[in-house]
Amino acid sequence: MLDLANSLPNATHQFVHPFTQLAEVEASGPTVLVAGEGVRVTDRDGRELLDGFAGLWCVNIGYGRIEVVEAARQQMSKLPYASSFFGFANEPALRLAEELVRLSPESLQHVFFTLGGSDAVDSTLKIIRYFFNVTSRPEKKHVIGLERGYHGVSSAGAGLTGLSNCHLFFDLPLPYQHHIPSHYRYRSTYGSTDAEIINGSIDALQAKVAELGGSSKVAAFFCEPVQGSGGVIVPPEGWLAAMRDACAKLDILFVVDEVITGFGRTGQLFACDWERVEPDLMTIAKGLTSGYSPMGAVLLSDEIYRALVKQVPRDLPFAHGFTYTGHPVSAAVALACLEIYEREQLPENAKVVGAHLLKGLEALRENPWIGDVRGKGLLAAIELVANQKTRAPFEPGLGVSQLVRKKAYENGLIVRAFADNIIGLAPPLIVSEDDVDQMLERLARAIHAAKIELDAA
Ligand code: PMP
Repeated sequence: MLDLANSLPNATHQFVHPFTQLAEVEASGPTVLVAGEGVRVTDRDGRELLDGFAGLWCVNIGYGRIEVVEAARQQMSKLPYASSFFGFANEPALRLAEELVRLSPESLQHVFFTLGGSDAVDSTLKIIRYFFNVTSRPEKKHVIGLERGYHGVSSAGAGLTGLSNCHLFFDLPLPYQHHIPSHYRYRSTYGSTDAEIINGSIDALQAKVAELGGSSKVAAFFCEPVQGSGGVIVPPEGWLAAMRDACAKLDILFVVDEVITGFGRTGQLFACDWERVEPDLMTIAKGLTSGYSPMGAVLLSDEIYRALVKQVPRDLPFAHGFTYTGHPVSAAVALACLEIYEREQLPENAKVVGAHLLKGLEALRENPWIGDVRGKGLLAAIELVANQKTRAPFEPGLGVSQLVRKKAYENGLIVRAFADNIIGLAPPLIVSEDDVDQMLERLARAIHAAKIELDAA
């Protein structure tokens, strides 16, 4: 008889997992998902799970969307690949660029396609360097990000990321990369009121620019509209617009990383739309194709694009780009996703069901472990603490959030565990209030089970 258990691939050491404790996965084996439908996925053991994290906050339209599969199939049959180098192009990519310009903030008029978020950030950093060099301001080199910010894993993007685990052993950050404190209200360095946090952030940015030698030395400030991998940290209302203004006054570029927040996640198509913020550059990925095919992009202002056209000597190419820039299959997938966002009004669903999720998480506060509850749209987190009143964190090394994540999985729910015992939820944007209630029920059970296990230890 065929021994199915032994025929399953495990590749515990051949496959190198990103952001994983490798020794642990070598010992336990990978968690293998085999199918998905709507907001549910199935693992190799046949267990059905609610995907409370939309893959990696990317499967915004949910699993099993046949119209997207069909768009990919048609494009793959017709023309699976076309280069974008040397003036070549393909129809889906051209159409997608037009659509993105139509849908994104007014200031963004041009699109450079990448394969994902990290290379979108890396391309942005290179475009900024190039822009200031060709416009005779080569001394504008420093870039500033936020502590707890996440901007992918390219060498330059990981340096700009404000999370120490992304720097450790990688010799990062790079020269010219700097950070100011996050607007993190629950453990704020600025204070607890909106005004204190906003003014504190502006002061910190001004002080950092001054410390680096003034505006003539600083190129740009980068931020996410809601910090994602840093632990779902939502700024006060008005923060994004205030930072935009501060950058304009300081004469530095304002770059918004909407890799997570783009395509409806916070309740608007782009998080910038909440405060009508008009950035100089924007990075997108994830929801662009809902994870059905890899793709990201940099959106840029006309001023920056025109400099690339006019200020570069005619016989020199813009020598940047990837084999798969503007990939036709990914572009066809993205167009199909955009249609779904519009037709099914998924940003609106994220707003309505997101408010329901946040209310449900607030109700979990009666559990003494829950210190903070925060979110915007379908992007939410709880922060687990040893003491609700004093906000004292758990002893390091207890692995509380990992234990909750494990218990959630056993209860049929996928959540994400971040550093500092933060648990994140970001389900597909098609999620219903009933699905959310089930997620909350399973999460409550998981926290309870984790508490019993830890108390007994
Ligand atoms: N920027 C942000 C804000 C992100 O959240 C991510 C990924 N989580 C990235 C950039 C990098 O994207 P990718 O993993 O597609 O390279």
